[in-house]
Amino acid sequence: MRVLVLGAGQLARMMALEAIPLNIEVQAFDVRSDQIVDPINQQVLGEGLQQALRDADVVTAEFEHIPQVVLEPCEQSGKFLPGSRAILSGGDRRIEKALLQQAGVASAAYAEVHSKAELEAAVQQLGLPLVLKSALEGYDGKGQWRLKQIEQIDAVWTEIAQFLKQASKKAKQGIVAEQFIPFDYEVSLVGARGKDGQCVYYPLTENHHVNGVLSVSLPRLAHPLQAQAERMFQLLANELDYVGVLAIEFFAVGDRLLVNEIAPRVHNSGHWSQQGADTSQFANHIRAVCGLPLGDTTLLRPTLMVNILGLDQLPDCVLGIAGVHLHWYGKAPRPGRKMGHINLAADSTNSLGQRFAELIALLPAEDFPELSQMQSRISIS
Ligand code: AMP
Repeated sequence: MRVLVLGAGQLARMMALEAIPLNIEVQAFDVRSDQIVDPINQQVLGEGLQQALRDADVVTAEFEHIPQVVLEPCEQSGKFLPGSRAILSGGDRRIEKALLQQAGVASAAYAEVHSKAELEAAVQQLGLPLVLKSALEGYDGKGQWRLKQIEQIDAVWTEIAQFLKQASKKAKQGIVAEQFIPFDYEVSLVGARGKDGQCVYYPLTENHHVNGVLSVSLPRLAHPLQAQAERMFQLLANELDYVGVLAIEFFAVGDRLLVNEIAPRVHNSGHWSQQGADTSQFANHIRAVCGLPLGDTTLLRPTLMVNILGLDQLPDCVLGIAGVHLHWYGKAPRPGRKMGHINLAADSTNSLGQRFAELIALLPAEDFPELSQMQSRISIS
């Protein structure tokens, strides 16, 4: 069995590593270079999407910002899971918001805006503050503006108009104005839906961001909002007739969840599952798209994940902490780039807290900003 992944980054690589013991081969299609590569070592295996599609039994994706010229032939191949509609919903906030409404899943009230007049109308309709988001290519807080006061409309729209002018002519960029949600915390649900429609869910994971980028993820056992999150997952996954791993990011407001966004793929907030669950999200995605039974998603032991941004080395002594597992992505370092992650596991939440403190003491503070403050904010036990 051969799986072709659209995108050749770390997510494809971690899927490939999990596919090896299942006797499943994973190749990746690098959308930018048009090359077929081995996602583990980036070795070039061939050229062109047509060849890649012919040679694959199943086609899937590790990212959602995929050009239409690539999506169309994938859909036509009849091998593409979770399918174009799911990918487009993850890659375009207008389609995503419409999907959420159609599935009857709660999210921040919104309006599409194309002009200053429409922005003024959105302020009337939704109130302030607003979060303005680019419809395409927005991730990790990029392509976002905050509008807090009515006096800022002119200045904010000038910036947005400039942004829209510079946008690629190929894809139709736009703006979604969303009500600002004064949330208590952010969680995500990673789950998988098989070809038979059966779903499995990992525990809700609490996510902590620094400058809009995920820094720490901590799965929570028996979270009071787990059942609500699973119901919303099912509504969305059924609406899309989804096959594979799907991640949903939520804002928690009191005892209510609102969807922030969906990711039609394995997700950074599910990386802890490599050490904390019997079957990781990567293995379950491969199982789902290949039509195999899904694996157990139960949290086996307290675990957390810390992202490594911009660095390609850590002191060796980090591995000396019991329960530490390093996952490097083999990428060239650039400031802020996701280079790897650390999974930390322990037999009890107390011990996890202690090991987290040991880990923070060994990590270079300048490369892990706010981790120490986060340690005091995150209640692990
Ligand atoms: P996103 O790229 O949509 O995930 O947004 C990045 C971050 O901005 C989120 O993780 C939130 O912390 C914040 N954010 C996004 N949308 C809203 C909103 N409607 N209300 C409040 N905060 C938001």
